[in-house]
Amino acid sequence: MMHSYQPTDIIRPEILELKAYHVPPATGMIKLDAMENPYTLPEALQSEVAQIAALAPINRYPDPNATELKSALRQTLGIPESMPIMLGNGSDEIIQIIAMATAKPGAVLLSVEPAFVMFRMIATFANMRYVGVPLKRDFSLDADAMLKAIEQHKPAVIFLAYPNNPTGNLFDKDVLMQIIRATPGIVIIDEAYHAFADASVIDELEQHPNLLLMRTLSKLGLAGLRLGLITGHSAWLNEFEKIRLPYNVSVLTQHITQIALRHIDVLLRQAEQIKVERARMYAQLTAMNTLEVFPSDANFILFRVNHATRIFQMLKEKGILIKNLDSAHALLDNCLRVTVGTFEENAQFIATLQNLLNEKH
Ligand SMILES: *Cc1c(COP(=O)(O)O)cnc(C)c1O
Repeated sequence: MMHSYQPTDIIRPEILELKAYHVPPATGMIKLDAMENPYTLPEALQSEVAQIAALAPINRYPDPNATELKSALRQTLGIPESMPIMLGNGSDEIIQIIAMATAKPGAVLLSVEPAFVMFRMIATFANMRYVGVPLKRDFSLDADAMLKAIEQHKPAVIFLAYPNNPTGNLFDKDVLMQIIRATPGIVIIDEAYHAFADASVIDELEQHPNLLLMRTLSKLGLAGLRLGLITGHSAWLNEFEKIRLPYNVSVLTQHITQIALRHIDVLLRQAEQIKVERARMYAQLTAMNTLEVFPSDANFILFRVNHATRIFQMLKEKGILIKNLDSAHALLDNCLRVTVGTFEENAQFIATLQNLLNEKH
């Protein structure tokens, strides 16, 4: 009989080396770790969703082109008529599609460090070479280092989140545009946190054929539905569409998202409330003078604290889950990231953190 394969015989070595993306259990906890919108929908809107869900033709495959949903998205988000849209099961799937499409042998996917970890992970999944150019200490783009890396590696794809995750800041738009003009490949600007920032590259799309804009509805309050989109010149999107699985956006997601878009004012008001809470939390954190707090244009705040891992653990023991980024990257030494929650959640977080800091002195 032939020897049967073990995983180590047939799984690619770079996959064997990976650790699965860890999502910590959060049942019963104050959950401030994943950049979710903490508010639910108003009751009237919930009822409308219930009705649409009840009537949704879930015995049928979804519309593979999601024509109605795309046209609603175009209107609501102000996407130019000349630009096609491709939808993903979350923007994570779009990153994966782009990586699969561009993963020629030796092809480079370039981003910054620290950045959204999925850029690096998906590059590995797709067998691309990943290059991460360090940000400056204040988390701004290092223009010289970026241009040098572009020159050296000639990346097929550059991913930049605007605002950046996990740092929360917006990069300098002029430097972004300089990068877009300098690179031979495509640049995907990932505006996952657009609802909390007053900036976008949407007006640059027509002028820059190598620029693509990615958005998601996750941070705006629909994380559970899984819907992301990318727009840009059709020459690129036509190729990516070939890789997208035909039914990647479910019937329920298509129908419920359309209702949500009809009531986009509700979600935008929630985003405004999150910005108010962000300002309050930023002031409270800054007032704790042992912390270094980084300004944020997103729905989370990054801060540095002595003994970050211990503080993170103690918060967790007290039922508050945030994100520990200590040891994620040299620039994130002793850094924690907290998602902005409701007034009550934030107050509990602040009070608990304050107590922990007091205990230690
Ligand atoms: C959260 C996040 C995403 C993922 O969004 P989904 O649409 O939920 O997959 C993409 N990019 C950045 C920078 C994020 O922070």
